[in-house]
Amino acid sequence: MQFKELQIIEPILKALKEENYTNPTSIQEQAIPPLLEGKDVLGSAQTGTGKTAAFSIPILQHLYNDRQNGKNSREIKSIIITPTRELAIQIGESIGIYGKYTGLKHTVIFGGVKQGRQTDALDRGIDILVATPGRLLDLMNQGFISLKHIEYFVLDEADRMLDMGFIHDIKKIIAKLPKQRQSLFFSATMPDNIVELSNTILKNPVKIEV
Ligand code: AMP
Repeated sequence: MQFKELQIIEPILKALKEENYTNPTSIQEQAIPPLLEGKDVLGSAQTGTGKTAAFSIPILQHLYNDRQNGKNSREIKSIIITPTRELAIQIGESIGIYGKYTGLKHTVIFGGVKQGRQTDALDRGIDILVATPGRLLDLMNQGFISLKHIEYFVLDEADRMLDMGFIHDIKKIIAKLPKQRQSLFFSATMPDNIVELSNTILKNPVKIEV
């Protein structure tokens, strides 16, 4: 199977080609088609499987198509929540690479640093936000971020997020999301508490295991 068989648009294919990605990984092959159809996905996958591209490509593609169709606000339309600063930075870099020909804007926010640069980036207007939970809630509470326009929500490394004690933050964030949205949920393991959390977020998800 090749990426072009997955109905990926030219600006993204071009970027993938430059990265020498020719064939999708298993999770990409399984997740990209349902995500492009607008379905929710529950993915059981570790880092290293190519899950970042699996969730980023469909989001970039939807948002790119919307812009082509004249929806050109720079409200935050997609949010990706991940437990650590390192993961947030990596995901941001990947989105920058896969999305380099889409004209979409993204930024990354995480705790442990001053917020000024992050809020400046938010003020300039972005389409996709990658965030760790604590800083996200903090900037939401200060009024720098609204989740009113979110269309695509990704919870990454959910099991690690719970292990790190982020459950209350996650619940507060979820409560602010629009009901009408597409949700993606990834976890390396699927114990009962993770399945329960996924049930509060996803609607009829396609389940994928790699
Ligand atoms: P991830 O699991 O998203 O952290 O990705 C793991 C690594 O695989 C990253 O270094 C990606 O750049 C790389 N990668 C992801 N998808 C592909 C692909 N289809 N072909 C080649 N490399 C890939």
